[in-house]
Amino acid sequence: MTALTDLDLKGKRVLVRVDFNVPIDDNCHVGDDTRMRESLPTINYLRKQGCKVVLMSHLGRPKGSYNAKYSLAPVAKHLQTLLGEDVVFSPDCIGREAEQMTSELKAGQVMLLENLRFYPMEENNDKEFAHKLARLADVYVNDAFGTAHRAHASTVGVTAFLPSCAGFLMEKEIANLSRVTNAPEHPFVAIIGGAKVSDKYSVIENLLGKVDKLLIGGGMANTFLAAMGDIMQKSLVEHDKVELARKMLEMPLAKEKLVLPVDLVAADGFSNDAKVRVVPTYAIPDDWMALDIGTETIELFKEHLKDAKTIIWNGPLGVFEMDKFSHGTMEIAQAVADSEAFSVIGGGDSLAAIGRCNAKNKISHLSTGGGASLEFLSGKILPGVAVLTGK
Ligand code: AMP
Repeated sequence: MTALTDLDLKGKRVLVRVDFNVPIDDNCHVGDDTRMRESLPTINYLRKQGCKVVLMSHLGRPKGSYNAKYSLAPVAKHLQTLLGEDVVFSPDCIGREAEQMTSELKAGQVMLLENLRFYPMEENNDKEFAHKLARLADVYVNDAFGTAHRAHASTVGVTAFLPSCAGFLMEKEIANLSRVTNAPEHPFVAIIGGAKVSDKYSVIENLLGKVDKLLIGGGMANTFLAAMGDIMQKSLVEHDKVELARKMLEMPLAKEKLVLPVDLVAADGFSNDAKVRVVPTYAIPDDWMALDIGTETIELFKEHLKDAKTIIWNGPLGVFEMDKFSHGTMEIAQAVADSEAFSVIGGGDSLAAIGRCNAKNKISHLSTGGGASLEFLSGKILPGVAVLTGK
C-alpha cells in the first residue's frame, strides 16, 4: 500500500477516512473510544506536517437520511479532548459550506465532517458523491480499517479523484493480520462465535482451508447442532440456514476441522434470573433455550487452544452481556490471553470480554475491525485496501 510517508503532504488539505463509529450514550458521551485513540498517530502526523486535516466517518446505521441520534457532533467534542485542540465541526459532509470551511482551515487544524451515512450515496459508492467528498481536499488517506471490507464512496469511490494512501492504523492492521494470512505458525486455531451463521458462513468456509481447527460457539453453533439433528427447543436457530449448515458439515474439511459444542448452558428464559442447567446438546429441556457453551465444551475448546501457535477469535460464545451466560466467553478469553500463540482478536464483543479479563496486553493484536479482520483473515481482498495498493 502507498504509505503516508510516501507522499509529500506539507501544507496540503488532507481528507482522512477514519472509523469513529463509537458508542454514544443518551447524554451524548462517547463510551469506548479505542477506535478514536487508534487514529491519533495519523491525525497528529498530519498536524505536524502542517496539513489541514479533514476527517470523515460514519456512525451507526441512519439509513441514508439525517437523524440527530447519529450525529457526529458529540464525537467532535470528544476528539477535542483527546487532541487538546479545537476541532471544527461541519454540519454537512459535502457541499459549498463544507468546501468553504475546509479552505478556511489553518495549517495543523482539524475538522470533522457530519455522518457520511446521512446520504444513501455513501453506501452505494456513488461516483458523484465521491467526487463531492474529493473536492474537500488535495490528498486522501484511509485509516478506517473497520470499514475497509465495504466498497463505499468514502473508502473506494473517492480514490478515483485524489492521490490516495493508507494511514498508520490501516498499515498496522494489515501488517499484523498479514502475519496470520501469509505464514501462520501451526497449529492454527480459529474461534468463531456470535449470533448468526448467515453473517459468517463464507468466512467459515474460507477459514476451513487455512486453519487446523475451527471452534464454533454462540448462537451460530445452534444452527449447526440443529443440522446434526439436535432439538434446539427455543434456542436461537436460523431455520432457513439449517440446510446450508448441513451441507457444510458434510464437507471433508469440516469433518476434519470443525469443533462444535458438546454441552450447553440451557435456561428457561432469556434473563439473568432464569433457571439454568448444563446439558448435553441433545438434551435441552422442553421450551428452554441454549445461551452459553457448557463446562465440557469449555474444556474441549481449551484443549484445542493449549498447543496452538496461532489463534484468531471473533464473536462471543454465549449471551455474555448477561453474567449468567458469560462464563464460556470469559473462560475462552482467559485461555487466549494465557496462550503463548500469536493471537488476534477482532469484534467489539470479543474485545470487551478481553477488557473485562484485564488481559488486553496479553493479546498480540487487537483489531479495530470485526467484520473487516475476519474477511481479511479468511483470505478475501478488502476493496478499501485494494484501491490503496493499485491492484
Ligand atoms: P455477532 O454480532 O454476530 O458477533 O453476535 C453477537 C451477539 O450474539 C451478542 O449480542 C450475544 O449476546 C449473541 N449471542 C451469543 N450466543 C448466543 C446464544 N446462544 N443465543 C442468542 N444470542 C447469542
